Amino acid sequence: MSFESLGLKAELLRAIDEQGYTEPTPIQAQAIPLVLQGRDIMAGAQTGTGKTAGFTLPMLQLLSERPKERAARSVRVLVLTPTRELAAQVADSIETYGRHLPHRAAVVFGGVNINPQISRLRSGIEVLIATPGRLLDHVQRGTVDLSEVEMLVLDEADRMLDMGFIHDIRRIVKCLPGTEDRQSLMFSATFPGEIRKLAGQMLNRPELVEVAAPNATVERIEQVVHPVEKHRKRELLSHLVGAGNWQQVLVFTRTKHGANRLARQLEADGLSATAIHGNKTQAARTRALADFKQGRVRVLVATDIAARGLDIDHLPYVVNFELPNVPEDYVHRIGRTGRAGREGKALSLVARDEWKLLGGIEKLLRSKVPQQVLDGYEAGTRAANSDYHDNGRGNERGAGQNSDRKPRRNGRKPVRARNGSGGNGNLGNNNGGNGNGGKRRTERPAVQLVREQRPARSQGDRPAASAKAGFSSLADRYFED
Ligand code: AMP
Repeated sequence: MSFESLGLKAELLRAIDEQGYTEPTPIQAQAIPLVLQGRDIMAGAQTGTGKTAGFTLPMLQLLSERPKERAARSVRVLVLTPTRELAAQVADSIETYGRHLPHRAAVVFGGVNINPQISRLRSGIEVLIATPGRLLDHVQRGTVDLSEVEMLVLDEADRMLDMGFIHDIRRIVKCLPGTEDRQSLMFSATFPGEIRKLAGQMLNRPELVEVAAPNATVERIEQVVHPVEKHRKRELLSHLVGAGNWQQVLVFTRTKHGANRLARQLEADGLSATAIHGNKTQAARTRALADFKQGRVRVLVATDIAARGLDIDHLPYVVNFELPNVPEDYVHRIGRTGRAGREGKALSLVARDEWKLLGGIEKLLRSKVPQQVLDGYEAGTRAANSDYHDNGRGNERGAGQNSDRKPRRNGRKPVRARNGSGGNGNLGNNNGGNGNGGKRRTERPAVQLVREQRPARSQGDRPAASAKAGFSSLADRYFED
Protein backbone atom coordinates (compact mmCIF):
# COMPACT_ATOMS: atom_id res chain seq x y z
CA MET A 1 0.00 0.00 0.00
CA SER A 2 1.22 3.49 -0.79
CA PHE A 3 0.60 6.85 0.84
CA GLU A 4 -0.77 8.07 -2.52
CA SER A 5 -3.57 5.51 -2.38
CA LEU A 6 -4.77 6.96 0.93
CA GLY A 7 -5.86 10.13 -0.82
CA LEU A 8 -3.29 12.48 0.69
CA LYS A 9 -2.46 15.65 -1.18
CA ALA A 10 0.84 16.40 -2.92
CA GLU A 11 2.19 18.74 -0.23
CA LEU A 12 1.80 16.04 2.41
CA LEU A 13 3.21 13.32 0.17
CA ARG A 14 6.25 15.48 -0.37
CA ALA A 15 6.80 15.90 3.37
CA ILE A 16 6.35 12.14 3.88
CA ASP A 17 8.86 11.46 1.16
CA GLU A 18 11.34 13.83 2.79
CA GLN A 19 10.99 11.82 5.99
CA GLY A 20 11.97 8.72 4.05
CA TYR A 21 8.76 6.82 4.76
CA THR A 22 8.00 4.39 1.99
CA GLU A 23 4.66 2.98 3.08
CA PRO A 24 2.02 3.67 5.66
CA THR A 25 2.03 1.70 8.88
CA PRO A 26 -1.12 -0.36 9.63
CA ILE A 27 -2.55 2.34 11.89
CA GLN A 28 -1.93 4.96 9.23
CA ALA A 29 -3.45 2.80 6.50
CA GLN A 30 -6.62 2.42 8.54
CA ALA A 31 -6.94 5.74 10.29
CA ILE A 32 -6.05 8.18 7.50
CA PRO A 33 -8.97 7.37 5.14
CA LEU A 34 -11.46 7.35 8.03
CA VAL A 35 -10.31 10.71 9.35
CA LEU A 36 -10.41 12.15 5.83
CA GLN A 37 -14.04 10.99 5.60
CA GLY A 38 -14.80 12.94 8.74
CA ARG A 39 -15.40 9.88 10.93
CA ASP A 40 -14.73 9.74 14.66
CA ILE A 41 -12.26 7.02 15.58
CA MET A 42 -11.23 5.13 18.66
CA ALA A 43 -7.83 3.69 17.92
CA GLY A 44 -5.96 1.08 19.89
CA ALA A 45 -2.40 1.97 19.12
CA GLN A 46 0.57 2.22 21.34
CA THR A 47 3.45 4.51 20.84
CA GLY A 48 5.88 3.36 18.16
CA THR A 49 3.16 2.42 15.68
CA GLY A 50 3.24 5.67 13.73
CA LYS A 51 -0.02 6.86 15.27
CA THR A 52 1.03 10.51 15.36
CA ALA A 53 1.27 10.72 11.58
CA GLY A 54 -1.96 8.69 11.52
CA PHE A 55 -3.84 11.69 12.84
CA THR A 56 -1.65 14.67 11.89
CA LEU A 57 -1.58 13.93 8.15
CA PRO A 58 -5.35 13.79 7.58
CA MET A 59 -5.87 16.64 10.05
CA LEU A 60 -3.55 18.90 8.07
CA GLN A 61 -5.28 17.88 4.86
CA LEU A 62 -8.76 18.68 6.21
CA LEU A 63 -7.58 22.05 7.47
CA SER A 64 -6.11 22.97 4.11
CA GLU A 65 -9.25 21.86 2.27
CA ARG A 66 -11.46 24.09 4.39
CA PRO A 67 -9.56 27.36 4.74
CA LYS A 68 -11.12 29.75 7.24
CA GLU A 69 -10.29 33.19 8.46
CA ARG A 70 -8.73 33.20 11.91
CA ALA A 71 -10.78 34.79 14.65
CA ALA A 72 -9.06 36.18 17.75
CA ARG A 73 -7.92 33.40 20.13
CA SER A 74 -9.69 30.76 18.03
CA VAL A 75 -8.54 27.17 17.58
CA ARG A 76 -9.67 24.73 14.90
CA VAL A 77 -7.95 21.53 16.03
CA LEU A 78 -7.19 20.70 19.65
CA VAL A 79 -4.76 17.89 20.49
CA LEU A 80 -4.61 16.92 24.18
CA THR A 81 -1.62 14.97 25.44
CA PRO A 82 -0.70 13.76 28.92
CA THR A 83 2.84 15.13 29.05
CA ARG A 84 4.81 18.13 27.93
CA GLU A 85 7.25 15.94 26.04
CA LEU A 86 4.51 14.30 24.04
CA ALA A 87 2.94 17.69 23.34
CA ALA A 88 6.26 18.97 22.02
CA GLN A 89 6.69 15.87 19.89
CA VAL A 90 3.25 16.11 18.36
CA ALA A 91 4.01 19.77 17.64
CA ASP A 92 7.23 18.73 15.94
CA SER A 93 5.36 16.18 13.83
CA ILE A 94 2.83 18.78 12.75
CA GLU A 95 5.62 21.07 11.75
CA THR A 96 7.41 18.27 9.89
CA TYR A 97 4.42 16.92 7.98
CA GLY A 98 2.84 20.31 7.46
CA ARG A 99 5.92 22.12 6.23
CA HIS A 100 4.53 22.57 2.71
CA LEU A 101 1.08 23.68 3.83
CA PRO A 102 0.16 26.99 5.42
CA HIS A 103 -0.94 26.57 9.02
CA ARG A 104 -0.31 28.11 12.39
CA ALA A 105 0.20 25.89 15.39
CA ALA A 106 0.96 26.44 19.05
CA VAL A 107 1.88 24.16 21.88
CA VAL A 108 1.00 24.98 25.47
CA PHE A 109 2.10 23.15 28.58
CA GLY A 110 2.93 24.02 32.14
CA GLY A 111 6.29 24.63 33.72
CA VAL A 112 7.16 27.47 31.36
CA ASN A 113 6.26 31.14 31.13
CA ILE A 114 2.64 31.56 30.03
CA ASN A 115 3.07 34.96 28.36
CA PRO A 116 4.66 33.83 25.08
CA GLN A 117 1.82 31.29 24.82
CA ILE A 118 -0.76 34.03 25.30
CA SER A 119 0.79 36.12 22.53
CA ARG A 120 0.90 33.15 20.21
CA LEU A 121 -2.78 32.39 20.79
CA ARG A 122 -3.96 35.99 20.48
CA SER A 123 -4.57 36.18 16.75
CA GLY A 124 -5.96 32.65 16.45
CA ILE A 125 -4.34 29.44 15.30
CA GLU A 126 -5.27 26.33 13.39
CA VAL A 127 -3.78 23.66 15.69
CA LEU A 128 -3.30 23.78 19.43
CA ILE A 129 -1.41 20.99 21.18
CA ALA A 130 -1.84 21.16 24.92
CA THR A 131 -1.55 19.41 28.23
CA PRO A 132 -4.83 19.66 30.17
CA GLY A 133 -3.75 21.75 33.18
CA ARG A 134 -2.15 24.61 31.27
CA LEU A 135 -4.96 24.64 28.74
CA LEU A 136 -7.47 25.18 31.54
CA ASP A 137 -5.32 28.05 32.78
CA HIS A 138 -5.71 29.68 29.39
CA VAL A 139 -9.44 28.97 29.35
CA GLN A 140 -9.83 30.62 32.75
CA ARG A 141 -7.82 33.65 31.69
CA GLY A 142 -9.87 33.93 28.53
CA THR A 143 -6.73 33.74 26.41
CA VAL A 144 -8.07 30.93 24.23
CA ASP A 145 -11.48 30.32 22.69
CA LEU A 146 -12.39 26.68 22.18
CA SER A 147 -15.95 27.22 20.99
CA GLU A 148 -15.04 26.80 17.31
CA VAL A 149 -12.98 23.61 17.61
CA GLU A 150 -13.69 21.36 14.63
CA MET A 151 -11.53 18.42 15.67
CA LEU A 152 -10.47 17.04 19.04
CA VAL A 153 -7.64 14.52 19.37
CA LEU A 154 -7.08 12.75 22.67
CA ASP A 155 -3.62 11.20 22.51
CA GLU A 156 -2.58 8.47 24.96
CA ALA A 157 -5.96 8.65 26.62
CA ASP A 158 -5.21 5.80 29.03
CA ARG A 159 -2.19 7.62 30.36
CA MET A 160 -4.19 10.81 30.78
CA LEU A 161 -6.60 8.92 32.98
CA ASP A 162 -3.74 7.26 34.88
CA MET A 163 -2.34 10.69 35.56
CA GLY A 164 -5.63 11.91 37.00
CA PHE A 165 -6.63 14.24 34.16
CA ILE A 166 -10.18 12.95 33.82
CA HIS A 167 -11.78 15.99 35.51
CA ASP A 168 -9.65 18.42 33.53
CA ILE A 169 -10.62 16.65 30.32
CA ARG A 170 -14.31 16.84 31.16
CA ARG A 171 -13.99 20.55 31.90
CA ILE A 172 -12.21 21.14 28.61
CA VAL A 173 -14.78 19.14 26.64
CA LYS A 174 -17.52 21.39 28.06
CA CYS A 175 -15.88 24.33 26.29
CA LEU A 176 -16.01 22.59 22.89
CA PRO A 177 -18.87 22.22 20.41
CA GLY A 178 -20.93 19.05 20.99
CA THR A 179 -19.95 15.64 19.64
CA GLU A 180 -22.21 16.10 16.58
CA ASP A 181 -20.49 19.33 15.66
CA ARG A 182 -16.88 18.27 15.89
CA GLN A 183 -14.78 15.31 14.81
CA SER A 184 -13.16 13.40 17.66
CA LEU A 185 -10.25 10.97 17.60
CA MET A 186 -9.13 8.97 20.58
CA PHE A 187 -5.85 7.05 20.77
CA SER A 188 -5.09 4.69 23.61
CA ALA A 189 -2.73 1.78 24.12
CA THR A 190 -5.18 0.02 26.41
CA PHE A 191 -8.96 0.06 26.78
CA PRO A 192 -9.93 -0.30 30.41
CA GLY A 193 -13.59 0.32 31.29
CA GLU A 194 -13.00 3.97 32.14
CA ILE A 195 -11.60 4.65 28.68
CA ARG A 196 -14.54 2.95 27.00
CA LYS A 197 -16.89 5.04 29.12
CA LEU A 198 -15.08 8.23 28.17
CA ALA A 199 -15.14 7.22 24.51
CA GLY A 200 -18.90 6.63 24.76
CA GLN A 201 -19.33 10.19 25.99
CA MET A 202 -16.85 11.95 23.76
CA LEU A 203 -17.06 10.21 20.41
CA ASN A 204 -19.87 10.15 17.92
CA ARG A 205 -20.46 6.66 16.49
CA PRO A 206 -16.73 5.99 16.33
CA GLU A 207 -15.07 3.58 13.97
CA LEU A 208 -12.81 1.19 15.84
CA VAL A 209 -9.26 0.92 14.62
CA GLU A 210 -7.32 -1.87 16.24
CA VAL A 211 -3.91 -2.65 14.98
CA ALA A 212 -1.81 -3.07 18.05
CA ALA A 213 -2.67 -5.76 20.49
CA PRO A 214 -3.01 -3.84 23.73
CA ASN A 215 -0.26 -4.69 26.12
CA ALA A 216 1.65 -6.82 23.64
CA THR A 217 5.27 -5.87 23.54
CA VAL A 218 6.75 -4.61 20.35
CA GLU A 219 7.85 -7.63 18.35
CA ARG A 220 11.28 -6.44 17.49
CA ILE A 221 12.37 -5.85 21.04
CA GLU A 222 14.61 -8.50 22.50
CA GLN A 223 13.93 -8.78 26.21
CA VAL A 224 16.07 -10.30 28.91
CA VAL A 225 16.09 -10.40 32.69
CA HIS A 226 19.38 -10.31 34.59
CA PRO A 227 18.97 -11.50 38.18
CA VAL A 228 21.25 -9.46 40.41
CA GLU A 229 21.52 -8.47 44.05
CA LYS A 230 19.95 -5.08 44.65
CA HIS A 231 23.13 -3.46 45.95
CA ARG A 232 25.06 -4.54 42.85
CA LYS A 233 22.69 -3.19 40.25
CA ARG A 234 24.53 0.05 39.70
CA GLU A 235 27.83 -1.73 39.29
CA LEU A 236 26.30 -4.15 36.79
CA LEU A 237 24.73 -1.33 34.83
CA SER A 238 28.02 0.54 34.57
CA HIS A 239 29.67 -2.68 33.49
CA LEU A 240 27.10 -3.38 30.79
CA VAL A 241 27.23 0.14 29.40
CA GLY A 242 31.01 0.28 29.51
CA ALA A 243 31.89 -3.23 28.36
CA GLY A 244 29.20 -3.23 25.68
CA ASN A 245 30.24 0.24 24.59
CA TRP A 246 26.61 1.32 24.58
CA GLN A 247 26.36 4.89 23.45
CA GLN A 248 22.68 5.56 24.07
CA VAL A 249 20.80 3.92 26.93
CA LEU A 250 17.52 4.89 28.52
CA VAL A 251 17.35 3.66 32.12
CA PHE A 252 14.20 3.57 34.23
CA THR A 253 14.01 4.00 37.95
CA ARG A 254 10.90 4.07 40.10
CA THR A 255 11.50 7.35 41.86
CA LYS A 256 12.76 10.81 41.03
CA HIS A 257 15.19 10.63 43.89
CA GLY A 258 16.45 7.26 42.62
CA ALA A 259 16.90 8.71 39.14
CA ASN A 260 19.01 11.58 40.45
CA ARG A 261 21.12 9.31 42.59
CA LEU A 262 21.75 6.81 39.83
CA ALA A 263 22.71 9.53 37.34
CA ARG A 264 25.24 10.87 39.87
CA GLN A 265 26.65 7.41 40.51
CA LEU A 266 27.04 6.66 36.83
CA GLU A 267 28.84 9.95 36.38
CA ALA A 268 31.14 8.91 39.20
CA ASP A 269 31.79 5.69 37.26
CA GLY A 270 32.89 7.79 34.30
CA LEU A 271 29.73 7.48 32.21
CA SER A 272 28.02 10.65 31.08
CA ALA A 273 24.53 10.50 32.52
CA THR A 274 21.63 12.77 33.30
CA ALA A 275 18.22 12.40 34.92
CA ILE A 276 14.83 13.44 33.58
CA HIS A 277 11.78 13.58 35.81
CA GLY A 278 8.87 15.72 36.88
CA ASN A 279 10.79 17.73 39.49
CA LYS A 280 13.14 19.15 36.88
CA THR A 281 12.29 22.42 35.23
CA GLN A 282 11.07 22.21 31.69
CA ALA A 283 14.28 23.86 30.52
CA ALA A 284 16.34 21.17 32.29
CA ARG A 285 14.22 18.38 30.82
CA THR A 286 14.51 19.83 27.36
CA ARG A 287 18.26 20.16 27.70
CA ALA A 288 18.68 16.65 29.07
CA LEU A 289 16.71 15.16 26.21
CA ALA A 290 18.54 17.19 23.59
CA ASP A 291 21.93 16.19 25.07
CA PHE A 292 20.89 12.56 25.02
CA LYS A 293 19.53 12.64 21.49
CA GLN A 294 22.60 14.36 20.17
CA GLY A 295 24.99 11.93 21.84
CA ARG A 296 26.45 14.28 24.43
CA VAL A 297 25.05 12.11 27.21
CA ARG A 298 25.18 8.30 27.05
CA VAL A 299 22.73 7.41 29.78
CA LEU A 300 19.39 9.07 30.36
CA VAL A 301 17.84 8.03 33.66
CA ALA A 302 14.10 8.55 33.68
CA THR A 303 10.98 7.96 35.70
CA ASP A 304 7.90 6.55 33.97
CA ILE A 305 5.99 9.74 33.60
CA ALA A 306 8.94 11.74 32.31
CA ALA A 307 9.67 9.11 29.69
CA ARG A 308 6.14 8.81 28.43
CA GLY A 309 5.96 9.90 24.85
CA LEU A 310 9.71 10.31 24.36
CA ASP A 311 10.47 9.61 20.74
CA ILE A 312 14.14 8.98 20.31
CA ASP A 313 15.14 7.73 16.90
CA HIS A 314 17.06 4.47 16.88
CA LEU A 315 17.26 4.08 20.65
CA PRO A 316 19.02 0.72 20.95
CA TYR A 317 18.83 -0.03 24.69
CA VAL A 318 16.31 0.33 27.46
CA VAL A 319 17.22 -0.83 30.95
CA ASN A 320 14.76 -1.37 33.77
CA PHE A 321 16.97 -0.60 36.72
CA GLU A 322 13.93 -1.32 38.82
CA LEU A 323 10.80 -3.02 37.56
CA PRO A 324 7.72 -0.81 37.56
CA ASN A 325 4.94 -1.44 40.06
CA VAL A 326 2.35 -1.36 37.31
CA PRO A 327 2.90 -4.08 34.68
CA GLU A 328 1.55 -1.87 31.86
CA ASP A 329 4.40 0.55 32.51
CA TYR A 330 6.85 -2.18 31.52
CA VAL A 331 5.27 -2.27 28.06
CA HIS A 332 5.41 1.50 27.78
CA ARG A 333 9.01 1.56 28.93
CA ILE A 334 10.36 -1.02 26.56
CA GLY A 335 8.35 0.53 23.73
CA ARG A 336 10.90 3.36 23.80
CA THR A 337 13.22 1.10 21.84
CA GLY A 338 12.48 -0.92 18.73
CA ARG A 339 10.78 2.07 17.14
CA ALA A 340 10.41 2.80 13.46
CA GLY A 341 11.28 -0.72 12.43
CA ARG A 342 14.54 -0.89 14.35
CA GLU A 343 15.54 -3.69 16.63
CA GLY A 344 16.02 -2.91 20.26
CA LYS A 345 17.01 -4.57 23.49
CA ALA A 346 15.23 -4.23 26.79
CA LEU A 347 17.07 -5.46 29.86
CA SER A 348 15.68 -5.73 33.34
CA LEU A 349 17.89 -5.91 36.41
CA VAL A 350 15.80 -7.93 38.81
CA ALA A 351 16.55 -8.26 42.51
CA ARG A 352 15.13 -10.85 44.85
CA ASP A 353 12.21 -8.68 45.97
CA GLU A 354 11.10 -7.98 42.41
CA TRP A 355 10.18 -11.45 41.23
CA LYS A 356 6.55 -10.88 42.06
CA LEU A 357 6.54 -7.78 39.89
CA LEU A 358 8.12 -9.79 37.08
CA GLY A 359 5.41 -12.40 37.52
CA GLY A 360 2.78 -9.68 37.02
CA ILE A 361 4.52 -8.43 33.89
CA GLU A 362 4.79 -11.89 32.39
CA LYS A 363 1.16 -12.50 33.12
CA LEU A 364 0.30 -9.37 31.19
CA LEU A 365 2.63 -10.34 28.33
CA ARG A 366 1.35 -13.90 28.42
CA SER A 367 4.89 -15.07 27.97
CA LYS A 368 8.06 -15.34 29.96
CA VAL A 369 11.00 -13.04 29.64
CA PRO A 370 14.22 -15.04 29.18
CA GLN A 371 16.60 -14.93 32.10
CA GLN A 372 20.34 -14.69 31.94
CA VAL A 373 22.62 -14.70 34.94
CA LEU A 374 25.78 -12.79 34.16
CA ASP A 375 29.17 -14.04 35.24
CA GLY A 376 30.26 -12.43 38.46
CA TYR A 377 26.77 -11.14 39.25
CA GLU A 378 25.11 -14.36 40.35
CA ALA A 379 22.02 -13.82 42.41
CA GLY A 380 18.97 -15.71 43.45
CA THR A 381 17.13 -16.66 40.31
CA ARG A 382 13.44 -17.03 39.91
CA ALA A 383 13.45 -20.71 40.78
CA ALA A 384 15.47 -20.08 43.90
CA ASN A 385 12.90 -17.68 45.18
CA SER A 386 10.11 -18.99 47.27
CA ASP A 387 7.79 -16.13 46.49
CA TYR A 388 7.75 -16.99 42.82
CA HIS A 389 6.26 -20.38 42.24
CA ASP A 390 7.97 -21.79 39.22
CA ASN A 391 8.69 -25.41 38.47
CA GLY A 392 12.36 -24.61 38.60
CA ARG A 393 13.28 -26.37 35.42
CA GLY A 394 13.50 -23.44 33.13
CA ASN A 395 16.05 -21.34 34.85
CA GLU A 396 19.37 -22.40 33.48
CA ARG A 397 22.11 -19.86 33.13
CA GLY A 398 22.00 -18.09 29.84
CA ALA A 399 19.13 -20.16 28.57
CA GLY A 400 16.85 -18.37 26.24
CA GLN A 401 13.68 -20.26 27.01
CA ASN A 402 13.56 -20.42 30.70
CA SER A 403 10.57 -22.47 31.58
CA ASP A 404 8.15 -24.97 30.27
CA ARG A 405 5.51 -23.64 32.56
CA LYS A 406 2.56 -22.63 30.45
CA PRO A 407 1.99 -18.92 30.67
CA ARG A 408 -1.28 -18.45 32.48
CA ARG A 409 -3.91 -16.69 30.49
CA ASN A 410 -5.55 -13.89 32.30
CA GLY A 411 -8.85 -14.21 30.60
CA ARG A 412 -8.35 -11.21 28.36
CA LYS A 413 -8.96 -11.89 24.72
CA PRO A 414 -6.17 -10.95 22.35
CA VAL A 415 -7.22 -8.14 20.09
CA ARG A 416 -7.42 -9.02 16.45
CA ALA A 417 -5.90 -6.99 13.68
CA ARG A 418 -8.92 -5.82 11.80
CA ASN A 419 -7.15 -5.32 8.54
CA GLY A 420 -6.24 -8.95 8.31
CA SER A 421 -2.58 -8.16 8.13
CA GLY A 422 -1.90 -10.26 11.17
CA GLY A 423 0.66 -7.72 12.23
CA ASN A 424 0.51 -6.08 15.60
CA GLY A 425 0.75 -2.73 13.98
CA ASN A 426 4.18 -1.81 15.13
CA LEU A 427 6.55 -0.34 12.66
CA GLY A 428 8.62 -2.74 10.66
CA ASN A 429 6.89 -5.80 11.94
CA ASN A 430 5.93 -7.79 8.93
CA ASN A 431 6.14 -11.17 10.44
CA GLY A 432 2.60 -11.60 11.58
CA GLY A 433 2.52 -10.52 15.19
CA ASN A 434 0.83 -12.97 17.46
CA GLY A 435 0.31 -10.60 20.30
CA ASN A 436 2.65 -12.75 22.24
CA GLY A 437 5.57 -10.37 22.45
CA GLY A 438 8.69 -12.40 22.71
CA LYS A 439 7.91 -16.07 22.38
CA ARG A 440 9.55 -16.48 19.04
CA ARG A 441 12.47 -14.38 20.08
CA THR A 442 13.46 -16.84 22.74
CA GLU A 443 14.74 -19.14 20.03
CA ARG A 444 17.62 -16.77 19.61
CA PRO A 445 20.43 -17.01 22.08
CA ALA A 446 20.00 -14.74 25.03
CA VAL A 447 21.87 -11.51 24.71
CA GLN A 448 25.59 -11.97 25.02
CA LEU A 449 26.25 -8.56 26.35
CA VAL A 450 29.17 -9.30 28.55
CA ARG A 451 31.23 -10.89 25.88
CA GLU A 452 30.08 -8.64 23.11
CA GLN A 453 32.59 -5.86 22.54
CA ARG A 454 31.02 -3.56 20.06
CA PRO A 455 33.26 -1.35 18.00
CA ALA A 456 33.08 2.24 19.11
CA ARG A 457 30.59 4.13 17.04
CA SER A 458 32.24 7.02 15.35
CA GLN A 459 30.62 10.40 15.44
CA GLY A 460 29.74 9.97 11.80
CA ASP A 461 27.72 6.87 12.62
CA ARG A 462 25.61 8.60 15.17
CA PRO A 463 21.98 8.81 14.25
CA ALA A 464 21.47 11.99 12.30
CA ALA A 465 19.86 14.72 14.30
CA SER A 466 16.41 14.42 12.80
CA ALA A 467 13.77 17.03 12.55
CA LYS A 468 12.72 15.77 15.95
CA ALA A 469 16.09 15.97 17.60
CA GLY A 470 15.95 17.87 20.81
CA PHE A 471 13.20 20.39 21.17
CA SER A 472 14.79 22.46 18.51
CA SER A 473 11.67 23.32 16.64
CA LEU A 474 8.26 24.50 17.68
CA ALA A 475 8.44 24.07 21.42
CA ASP A 476 11.85 25.68 21.73
CA ARG A 477 11.03 28.63 19.62
CA TYR A 478 7.86 29.40 21.51
CA PHE A 479 9.03 28.86 25.01
CA GLU A 480 12.50 30.06 25.58
CA ASP A 481 12.19 31.35 29.08
P1 AMP B 1 4.68 7.31 16.83
O1 AMP B 1 4.07 5.98 17.10
O2 AMP B 1 3.72 8.25 16.19
O3 AMP B 1 5.31 7.88 18.06
O4 AMP B 1 5.85 7.12 15.73
C1 AMP B 1 6.98 6.33 15.95
C2 AMP B 1 8.10 6.62 14.96
O5 AMP B 1 7.79 6.11 13.66
C3 AMP B 1 8.43 8.08 14.75
O6 AMP B 1 9.83 8.20 14.87
C4 AMP B 1 8.01 8.38 13.32
O7 AMP B 1 8.84 9.33 12.74
C5 AMP B 1 8.15 7.03 12.64
N1 AMP B 1 7.20 6.80 11.53
C6 AMP B 1 5.92 7.24 11.44
N2 AMP B 1 5.34 6.80 10.30
C7 AMP B 1 6.26 6.05 9.64
C8 AMP B 1 6.25 5.31 8.39
N3 AMP B 1 5.16 5.25 7.62
N4 AMP B 1 7.37 4.67 8.05
C9 AMP B 1 8.48 4.71 8.86
N5 AMP B 1 8.57 5.38 10.02
C10 AMP B 1 7.46 6.06 10.43
